[in-house]
Amino acid sequence: MTSRAYVTLVTNDAYLPGAIALVRSIRHTGTRADIVVMHTGAVASETLAPLTALGATLFQADLLPTSTAFNNAHAKREIHGKNPFTKGEKPSFHTPLDNFVKLRLWQLTRYEKIVFIDADALVLRNLDRLFDYPEFSAAPNVYESLVDFRRMNSGVFAARPSEATFNAMLTALDTPGAFWKRTDQTFLQHFFPEWNGLTVYDNMLQYVWFNMPDLWDWSMIRVLHFQYEKPWQEDHPKAEKLQPLIDLWRAFYTGKGIPADISALPGPRGAAT
Ligand code: UDP
Ligand code: MN
Repeated sequence: MTSRAYVTLVTNDAYLPGAIALVRSIRHTGTRADIVVMHTGAVASETLAPLTALGATLFQADLLPTSTAFNNAHAKREIHGKNPFTKGEKPSFHTPLDNFVKLRLWQLTRYEKIVFIDADALVLRNLDRLFDYPEFSAAPNVYESLVDFRRMNSGVFAARPSEATFNAMLTALDTPGAFWKRTDQTFLQHFFPEWNGLTVYDNMLQYVWFNMPDLWDWSMIRVLHFQYEKPWQEDHPKAEKLQPLIDLWRAFYTGKGIPADISALPGPRGAAT
């Protein structure tokens, strides 16, 4: 089992609360796989201490050696400014260039298989079966309508570490004029055009709660992913609508009041799902 790891990423202090709740939620599933938090040098070791206390292993992973042109093209003002997010808001602490550090998980070659999970997610049921899925497996980016099935979401995926793959990715990533509109997500879909599909329940996006309530099923959801606004942001624009999900996140963050039976939680319409 030790050749398998759940991996997440924290590149600044602002994502730490997310990682704490995520690591606790993974532990809660009873998995025997390792939990690795990749972090950049920008995060102080004292800041990361709560994660090691929860049993996570740290791995320092710095920004990729990308060109100045690439870095400029993916600077926050470019990504958020030129192609604004019209469906939801990204917190001000989100730094698009940092997303590409995710690719360093392919360098974790001491593991045979990795399940990557964004720091803004919770694992609600054991997810170990994903370790038996082929590279590259990810769920569709569903949160509004049918057209969403055409894109994958890079918040949860199964991968096989390999230096050769990592090097091939670097070459494909930073070509003259390269611009990956939704950063690692757009790149990974390009690099793995024949990505294998996981179910929507392996990466349930929080907006499904109010946009597609028919899809909500607490007995099925394995990962709940807080895409766009984060549950630890003070008073974000959708906080009221998402309150029950934020309360659940808070229970995993604090370790207090984690529901004994997730399946019994009320759904978006108030009744059990
Ligand atoms: N991330 C990070 N610092 C950043 C931006 C992203 O550590 O400034 C990591 C973190 O693990 C985060 C993931 O990359 O969960 C992807 O970003 P995010 O979840 O904010 O994107 P979204 O899911 O909203 O598209
Ligand atoms: Mn995310």
